[in-house]
Amino acid sequence: MSDQQFIIVPKISSYPGAQSRARVIQRWLVERGVIEPQLSACGSAPGRLAHAIGPRAADVMQPAGADALPYQQVRNGLEIITDRCIYTPMRGFEGRARCPECRKQIGEVLLEHLEEWMPAETENFICPECGHEDDINGFPFSQPCGFSDLGFIFNNWPGRYFRQSFIEEFVERLGYPVALVEVEY
Ligand SMILES: [Zn+2]
Repeated sequence: MSDQQFIIVPKISSYPGAQSRARVIQRWLVERGVIEPQLSACGSAPGRLAHAIGPRAADVMQPAGADALPYQQVRNGLEIITDRCIYTPMRGFEGRARCPECRKQIGEVLLEHLEEWMPAETENFICPECGHEDDINGFPFSQPCGFSDLGFIFNNWPGRYFRQSFIEEFVERLGYPVALVEVEY
C-alpha cells in the first residue's frame, strides 16, 4: 500500500518560537484525544518517533474520514517538525507558481531559490520579473506547498476529511494562515 501524508504548515519561513508553539499544539491535541501523549515508532520511516492515533481522533474527522483512520498501518502517527523544511506534493508536483504582483510564472526560479532558503540564508524571494519581494510563502504554487521551520505531518491520515472547525481551530492556535499539503509517495 502506498503511503501518504497530510501536512499542516504555517505560511511563514521562520515561525517565532517554533519549539514552544509545537509543545502548545501537542498538548492541545493530546487533551482533545486526537493523539497519544507518548512517542512511539509510528513515524514516516522505520523507527522514527511520532504520536499515535488518540482515542478520540474520530471526533475531529467527518464520518467518512473516521472510518479511514489508518489503524492498520505501521506509519500512522503525527510527527511535529521544528527544523526548516520544504513540503511539496511528491507525485505529480508541477512546480508552477505565480507572482502575486505581476502574475507571471516563476515556479522554476522559486524552486532553485530553495537552495539558498533551506540553509536559512534568506526567508524571502524576489520576483525576477517585477522585483516584488516577500516571504517565500507569499508566492503561491498551483498545488499547496509549505516552507517553514514548523510543520505537522499526519502520516496516512485521511486529512481531507478533517472537520473544517478543527482546521480553523488549528489555524487560530498557530496564529498564521496555513498550507494543507497532501503528499503521496
Ligand atoms: Zn512579479
